[in-house]
Amino acid sequence: MKYQDQTWRLQAACAGRDQAIFFPEVPLTRISWAEARAICRECPVVIDCLFYAVSARVEHGMFGAKTPEERRRLRRKLLSRATESVAS
Ligand code: SF4
Repeated sequence: MKYQDQTWRLQAACAGRDQAIFFPEVPLTRISWAEARAICRECPVVIDCLFYAVSARVEHGMFGAKTPEERRRLRRKLLSRATESVAS
């Protein structure tokens, strides 16, 4: 599986930063994610990171500029489209 190759992490914009930014404790609000999301949006491997987190069903932290809930919604949408594609 592609997500097992994590060499993309070598280019991660979050490397060396305070991981509490990406894994905030409470409260999990839009504001508490803002700093992490801004860093992710400038990251050269944001797509690899998002693909990894969605594929591996990572249920915590900011990955690929998406919160856990945003990734769950994205996964549901992708599965729905895949199901429609198979059925048609
Ligand atoms: S997208 Fe965000 S969490 Fe993922 S590697 Fe880049 S900075 Fe880190």
